[in-house]
Amino acid sequence: MTHSDAAAWEQRWHPLREEWVIVAAHRQDRPWQGERTSLPATAVPAYDERCYFCPGNVRVSGARNPDYQSVFVFDNDHPCVGQDAPRQLEGPSGIYRNAPATGVARVVCYSPRHNTTLAELPVPEIAALLAAWREQYLELGSRPDIRHVLIFENKGDVVGVSNPHPHGQIYATNFVFKIIETEAAASRRYHDEHRRVLFQDILRAELADGRRVVAEHGSAIAFLPYFARYAYECYVAPRETHASLATLSAGELGDLAAALKALLVRYDNLWQMSFPYVLTLHQAPTDGADYTGFHFHIECHPPLRKPQLLKYLAGPEIGGGNFLSDTRPEDKAAELAALPPVHYRARGGHA
Ligand SMILES: [Zn+2]
Ligand SMILES: [Zn+2]
Repeated sequence: MTHSDAAAWEQRWHPLREEWVIVAAHRQDRPWQGERTSLPATAVPAYDERCYFCPGNVRVSGARNPDYQSVFVFDNDHPCVGQDAPRQLEGPSGIYRNAPATGVARVVCYSPRHNTTLAELPVPEIAALLAAWREQYLELGSRPDIRHVLIFENKGDVVGVSNPHPHGQIYATNFVFKIIETEAAASRRYHDEHRRVLFQDILRAELADGRRVVAEHGSAIAFLPYFARYAYECYVAPRETHASLATLSAGELGDLAAALKALLVRYDNLWQMSFPYVLTLHQAPTDGADYTGFHFHIECHPPLRKPQLLKYLAGPEIGGGNFLSDTRPEDKAAELAALPPVHYRARGGHA
């Protein structure tokens, strides 16, 4: 076995989740290649009268959307957590416990234009979205019953979203989501032990190595981490440590918007398709505890390994809880970094 083969078959430690990722990129050419996802849909109009998110349309709740011009936020008509959730619950038996599913679920429309995507928005509009997310985090996080504000976007059929209108969601909950809890605990322990911010040491390692950096814009950086679990999983973060969006300066917000766009444009350019992903903001919980050492970042988890080929979660991931990656992060980062910085649809490529 050559040295490069050996490097493609190893375990890598994920310091934020405190778990192993098995990199087994030597098995890429297994005979069965998995199910391919459906081909991209045909051309989408700028306005769709059947869309619940387009300006002026009536939603299932009967509410009519305003004629909005930029970002539009509203309470989810099908909330999974909400103020109307039953509060008088029957207690379960034995060791089990339950709690009211209270909280706030909202939808954030990024643009009035039905046929655009986050990747295609101009940087100032992405910065405006970041500012709107910050407002939501501060407003919802200030409520005494809210311990955490999860802001995310599910994009694409393969992650269950059929409406192409660019939008994300917010779950403000009375509990802290598990991954945030894990990252916060790991960051705190690292800070206690080393007096340094864990994420800063990750950034230092990524910049020193350089092979996995996808884009840099002033105070912001996009990279495919050493310990990535998905083939094209990337992080976007400010270089300075901020526990959330709340303390970013206007300049940092603009740089973050530019770095995020740089990454998302490369995702789309990779296979000249609107790239599906789950994008999540990892911000400190709002439960009033001390989150020194927590470094806000955005995580993008695309489910595809190849064009129209999904990464399946199976025995190791679902059964065991650790990821098996069939690709080497250095190779995938190099693919992304080599792509043009201009979106293919803006270059006149096929839509
Ligand atoms: Zn729409
Ligand atoms: Zn994270």
